[in-house]
Amino acid sequence: AMSLQSSTPEALRVVNLLQERNLLPPSPIPAPTPCLTQELQKINCNPEVFRCTLTSIPQSQSLLNKAKMPLGLLLHPFKDLSQLPVVTSSTIVRCRSCRTYINPFVSFLDQRRWKCNLCYRVNDVPEEFMYNPVSRSYGEPHKRPEVQNATIEFIAPSEYMLRPPQPAVYLFLLDVSHNAVETGYLNVFCQSLLDNINSLPGDSRTKIGFITFDSTIHFYNLQEGLSQPQMLIVSDIEDIFLPTPDSLLVNLNERKELVQDVLKSLPNLFQKTMETQSALGSALQAAFKLLSPTGGRMSVFQTQLPNLGAGALQSREDPNQRASAKDIQHLSPATDFYKKLALDCSGQQVAVDLFMLSSQYCDLASLGCISRFSAGSIYYYPSYHHQHNPAQVECFQKDLKRYLTRKIGFEAVMRIRCTKGLSIHTFHGNFFVRSTDLLSLPNVNPDAGFAVQMSIEENLDDMQVVSFQAALLYTSSKGERRIRVHTLCLPVVNSLADIFAGADVQAMTGLLACMAVDRSVTASLSDARDALTNAAIDSLSSYRQSVLTIQQPGLLSPACLRLFPLFILALLKQKSFRTGTSTRLDDRVFSMCQLKYQPLTYTMLMIHPALYRVDDLTDEGALNISEQTIPQPRVLQLSVEKLSSDGAFLMDAGMVIYLWIGQNCNPNFLTQVLGVPSYAAVPDNLYLLPELDTAESQRTRAFIGWLRDQRPFFPSLHVIRDESQRKASFMQNMIEDRTESALSYYEFLLHLQQQISK
Ligand SMILES: [Zn+2]
Repeated sequence: AMSLQSSTPEALRVVNLLQERNLLPPSPIPAPTPCLTQELQKINCNPEVFRCTLTSIPQSQSLLNKAKMPLGLLLHPFKDLSQLPVVTSSTIVRCRSCRTYINPFVSFLDQRRWKCNLCYRVNDVPEEFMYNPVSRSYGEPHKRPEVQNATIEFIAPSEYMLRPPQPAVYLFLLDVSHNAVETGYLNVFCQSLLDNINSLPGDSRTKIGFITFDSTIHFYNLQEGLSQPQMLIVSDIEDIFLPTPDSLLVNLNERKELVQDVLKSLPNLFQKTMETQSALGSALQAAFKLLSPTGGRMSVFQTQLPNLGAGALQSREDPNQRASAKDIQHLSPATDFYKKLALDCSGQQVAVDLFMLSSQYCDLASLGCISRFSAGSIYYYPSYHHQHNPAQVECFQKDLKRYLTRKIGFEAVMRIRCTKGLSIHTFHGNFFVRSTDLLSLPNVNPDAGFAVQMSIEENLDDMQVVSFQAALLYTSSKGERRIRVHTLCLPVVNSLADIFAGADVQAMTGLLACMAVDRSVTASLSDARDALTNAAIDSLSSYRQSVLTIQQPGLLSPACLRLFPLFILALLKQKSFRTGTSTRLDDRVFSMCQLKYQPLTYTMLMIHPALYRVDDLTDEGALNISEQTIPQPRVLQLSVEKLSSDGAFLMDAGMVIYLWIGQNCNPNFLTQVLGVPSYAAVPDNLYLLPELDTAESQRTRAFIGWLRDQRPFFPSLHVIRDESQRKASFMQNMIEDRTESALSYYEFLLHLQQQISK
């Protein structure tokens, strides 16, 4: 192992957290660069796709235990990429012993043999690999694209399929109870699908179908020759059968007109419904039967607690306990019905995505299992209403467009391999673990993140570097079997100083958030909160005892961990883990779901939102993207101290963007950006900025547009005044300040210091 200490002095610079109060950098924090030779680092995997909590891997488990930091990987394996090398070859070169794909970190012993960087077996280079399709030259296997790119995609030959590649199959399952009709979501859904029907990923084999349900299940017969779609009602929900199995899921191209007819008539079909019941469980069973032969994607739109038939649920939330400082009940599912069904779906290559549009408690802790174990996604629009909640309608529209048009992989599996000695023991995300390291993903979407925890089972004594490789095998929407492979290489170190120097504070925070969600469900919320605080205490104690050579007073941290206590405090105040502040149970559960399956970038914004002053935006330091100037204001600490009543401040919390207007806000901002004459004239519930032809308006909208473009979902905008109802949710993100039920940042630091010096 290498000693790296001399080469990374900045990461280990001693910071006294109690003295230095302005530690938050003014611009986004980049991922740390692993301490590798320039040559290796140049070729390493992009940290947005694959990164490790410790960029320098401890040589042994005992060393890792001493460091008291979590070891794990975070992945965004199917992320949209601007450049992706694709390789077609009849033989995919893999290690004969551990099946690792040949990658940039293998070594060539000579022209004809390569040594696996995960198990060290020596393999022969096949003849075909000697030819380089890029340079069209022969005899330079180390120049092949597989050895020049850490991220690559293979088009797989037939031995990588168990059956012919499945077509793209989409089934929509729609709640049409009275409650659902009241929300008005059907209109938006149908219009959105009509608008995007030609952009659904797929080819000439794409299939589509619809089921609606209330107390009965309604199928839509789209048989050839029908002049209009025919609704078939099955009222025996105890024993679901498919009335005409062949004409319920139909070829989209051949029956497009019938499909469009369904979408045009659906919103009006149930206008006068008196049905209050919702037999979601039976509807899901019907949908499962319909999709079983092919697999595919099931999209479920639900607006209330299912209250009839299999899978019926009862309200478990006690509204008086929403602000409880004690333990929170009912974070785990009330029934295993949805988990079992999800596992059945997973076995048939069916993923279930859940869109919850409810104003009442709907037990997301139970319903969410249907997506969690089938590799689906969960979308949540609390208090959705077509008239009363226009901001939610806009979000739903934008999310649907992304959902319907983003790329998709079917019938997928993902395996993560690591160098001998390292072992993965826990996975986080939405999937089913089929065998120890094989994740079953009936669908894979480009917005899903994953995390894993690792341990060191055998000492990595003689190793300079170790590697990690994630391989995602899937069927594309065009019916091709493909394998996307990411390989990450990291140095091995044998001193605690070097381990600390390589700590990735954001990755650690993201992984700890996943671990804390599990802890809340399996043990209790207070256990999870204690574990988070202890993570900060233990790592800083270890640093103080084992790395610092000169003892000094204060709360000391290496520079690379200087934001760790801040992020831990932010997590403790995050919707998932907070106590003492009123939090609806479904809101809490949804927030936990997001921490588990969102890629790290979006998770970090949820945990620690970015705050900017925006009433004085300038072009200084601005970015220039496709002929647009995007201002880049500095990031401010999350404290009321940073606000001033003569300004306007924008807070990017990931899913939501707040624009707070001070009482004495610069009049120029009011007229030139908001288009109102005075503070008093700022309307309540403002969620759209007017498109004014002023430099200020253009700058502000460009900045917000740019923030939105950075992520695949659409954050709604809320303009906040002191009188606004939403002011509390804005202020709750000021995590550095003290509240009735929670410590300020400074108090939290004092608490940590006390515990450390015990
Ligand atoms: Zn191997």
